[in-house]
Amino acid sequence: MSESEKTGMISRRNLMLRAGAGMLAASIAPALLLARSAKGDTISDISPDGALQKLMEGNQRYIEQKRTFPDQARSRIVEVAEGQHPFATILACSDSRVAPEIIFDQGLGDLFDIRVAGNFLDDGVLGNMEYAAVELGVPLLVILGHERCGAVKAALDGKAVPGHIGTLVAAIKPAVDSTKGDKGDAWDNAVRANVKMNVKKLTSSSPILAEAVKAGKLKVVGGRYDLDSGKVEIIA
Ligand SMILES: [Zn+2]
Repeated sequence: MSESEKTGMISRRNLMLRAGAGMLAASIAPALLLARSAKGDTISDISPDGALQKLMEGNQRYIEQKRTFPDQARSRIVEVAEGQHPFATILACSDSRVAPEIIFDQGLGDLFDIRVAGNFLDDGVLGNMEYAAVELGVPLLVILGHERCGAVKAALDGKAVPGHIGTLVAAIKPAVDSTKGDKGDAWDNAVRANVKMNVKKLTSSSPILAEAVKAGKLKVVGGRYDLDSGKVEIIA
């Protein structure tokens, strides 16, 4: 066996071990996870407001094309290989133009990304959010919609869609329906309503996240990304 084959086997084994460890952690009761977090070994030391400021400063650098591309050097790869301490969880649309690390000028290990077309909550997404808040101690959670979102448009149009795409449309439809008759641009109204509705729904859907918010350990905000300017506006 060649050296490269051996290396390949080792890294695949490491990957499998890590995947196994992740599944194990996810299956541990929340109370246990809280206890582990309380030791301070997994908690981020940045405050919820500090995290939001750091994120928005990164967006400003991106808008002005003054990006610093932080946390992307070889040393960062080595640092985060041992563990992650992201400072923000981002639920963003899958849209290729809304990549969180790029639009917030962040790097490896900075953001815990959850991406689903139409950036709405379901049980899987809530599980991801709870994991980030409780196991990793991430102090900030952003639900990020964006201008001219295709998933929102599909829900707005109400036309038949093939396969599983209907699941996405059905999840976004309540927000779209809530804007019927509103003045202004129907598409953008729906994008904004979808963000606000999911921010509101978050704490009522997850007692774990509600508790973290109540304890001041987690801040939840909603944002809208402008495709034209690159700016993220906090709207909820
Ligand atoms: Zn979208």
